Amino acid sequence: MARDLVVATSNKKKLQEIRQIFKDLRFNIVSLADFSSAPRIVENGCTFIATSAKNAVAAARFYNRLAMGEDSGLCVNALDGAPGVRSARFSGADKSDERNNLKLLRLLKGLPMKKRRAHYSCAVALADASGLIGVVEGRCSGFIAYEQAGTFGFGYDPLFLVPGYKKTFAQLGPGIKHSISHRYRALKKFRAVLEKYIENAGER
Ligand code: IMP
Repeated sequence: MARDLVVATSNKKKLQEIRQIFKDLRFNIVSLADFSSAPRIVENGCTFIATSAKNAVAAARFYNRLAMGEDSGLCVNALDGAPGVRSARFSGADKSDERNNLKLLRLLKGLPMKKRRAHYSCAVALADASGLIGVVEGRCSGFIAYEQAGTFGFGYDPLFLVPGYKKTFAQLGPGIKHSISHRYRALKKFRAVLEKYIENAGER
């Protein structure tokens, strides 16, 4: 029977992407939503790496299982890296993907394309009940479009222009996004960490 890997997120869109990218992984991917109780995790890390590690360790200890923590966001050069770790709550208490995107457009109003450089970053951590095993990061560079386009994906995808395609992630869809995205790149490295952990576990 496949072992469980608890993904410490309640973001359904992210979980869907992780499941799609890891469709051949020999693990049963479960999330916080699959349990009747969840650890209380305050996301106050100042880096994606710190938050992903904190989430992984909290979930692994709470459920006494292998766990993955994931933290990701968008960093815009002209905004000194904002929204960064505050990507989800960029527009404040009334946050939503739409409000976040409109705020970003407002802040970049009037800037030409060459000043709209940005990257997505995704950190993924592995932990078991005894603590952190490893953390990896993946990035994807692009530009912030002048207006939203496309319906696929989530978050800032309608604004994230991928240079090689001149289209947003929301226009390109999962086939292309999952072959070049920050999450795909981080999960590719994470797979190696997981395989090494399993190999070592077999030797214990
Ligand atoms: P978290 O749940 O605190 O990690 O929030 C991450 C936030 O970053 C999301 O709510 C989105 O706003 C943004 N984000 C991260 N990854 C992506 C992506 O692949 N596409 C679009 N937005 C993303």
